[in-house]
Amino acid sequence: MAGELTPVNQVWPIVAGRVRQLGTTTLPLEKAASRVLRVSAVARWDLPMVDNSAMDGFAVRAADTQGEEKSPLKLVLEDAYAGTLNPPRVEPGTAVSIGTGGVVPGGADSVVPKENATWDETGVQVTVPAREGDHIRRRGEELKQGDEIIPAGERLTPLHLATMTMAGVEEVEVSRLPKVRVLSTGSELVKAGADARSGQVVDSNGPFLHRVLGGFLGQDPSQPQCVGDSEDELHTALEGLIDGADMAIVTGGVSVGDRDLVKPLLEESLGVQRIVWRVAQKPGKPFYLGVRDQTWVVGLPGNPGAVGAMWWVFVRPLLLALCGASQPLPQRMSIRLANEVKPSPTRTHFRWCRTEWKDGALWAHAMERCGSHMLSDFALSDTMAVIPAGRVSLRPGTEVEGIPLVP
Ligand code: AMP
Ligand code: MG
Repeated sequence: MAGELTPVNQVWPIVAGRVRQLGTTTLPLEKAASRVLRVSAVARWDLPMVDNSAMDGFAVRAADTQGEEKSPLKLVLEDAYAGTLNPPRVEPGTAVSIGTGGVVPGGADSVVPKENATWDETGVQVTVPAREGDHIRRRGEELKQGDEIIPAGERLTPLHLATMTMAGVEEVEVSRLPKVRVLSTGSELVKAGADARSGQVVDSNGPFLHRVLGGFLGQDPSQPQCVGDSEDELHTALEGLIDGADMAIVTGGVSVGDRDLVKPLLEESLGVQRIVWRVAQKPGKPFYLGVRDQTWVVGLPGNPGAVGAMWWVFVRPLLLALCGASQPLPQRMSIRLANEVKPSPTRTHFRWCRTEWKDGALWAHAMERCGSHMLSDFALSDTMAVIPAGRVSLRPGTEVEGIPLVP
């Protein structure tokens, strides 16, 4: 018996409680892009490291620029441009040329921007009096040595990496890469590149999962495998898929058809313990999730649209959670439906949309070719609208949640 469908919002709480984070490894920063940070990174030095100028101008003593009828300040011959580590001192009545990022000379307490002065080779006339501290970036005003810069649980982007570089971090402790394997099942399947005869189907799930995984992991996972719906072959292929993997993803054969052998094999012959099977969602109703030892077994329906949707809704979040990400679930944003959308009466519909920023709102055009066996309009979409189950059509302008299809 197939039994009840699990509501979409119950799936993640069931899963999250069972996630054991993968081990960690130490990597130099240049190899850490896309990894999840597991030990918070701290600044090795103050940022800025030293008081420095925020403007191109002149380092001065503010008091020398205040009051009536000031005589020009004597311009010191040496300057304090960025890269000059020991600039000359600013004595009373003098000014030192300084550039943005230049170390503030001893004796100076402010910087006069060029816009507020006139000058020649010998002297500087300040036209707008300076106040103490003007245009000086103070040592440590952003971060002090030892401050946490990036908390554990962040997935490292180029901005994270640049920030850590600035603060002297050279290596980081991150999650090891999950070992993920992919298997497409179905006797109708032929590999990409083969001439498909009528009635055959080119395996698109394997290549899709291979590419999104490659992008996610930052390196290609093992080649996806493909197998027909014969019990013996499936058994062997599934055992090979699961053994030693952190996540085994199988597409096809997880529904209730007579040739849907994957689920019974997993549970009855291969010792996989079921966590979830059949979710009140569209596409992706036959979704299966189980575990064996440390391996997560993800069974996706064969329909390519369902595989795509489940990558964003579930597979990617589970991988992030295994890697220790503090925010594994997809980002949600508010979108407005640009056209009328008929909900499923009983299931949450992840409806692919193409968004457009117009009149101060993000409008989502729900794409027409939205069957789970279809990909062509999904490929042109950038967001999945989350359409709650219901019997009443949603009018244009209705606000719903959207999941951006981020890489
Ligand atoms: P199933 O979940 O095995 O019942 O398959 C559902 C539908 O998805 C069927 O029309 C299959 O032909 C199709 N399908 C299954 N596997 C793939 C695949 N790897 N690539 C493309 N289509 C597939
Ligand atoms: Mg099948």
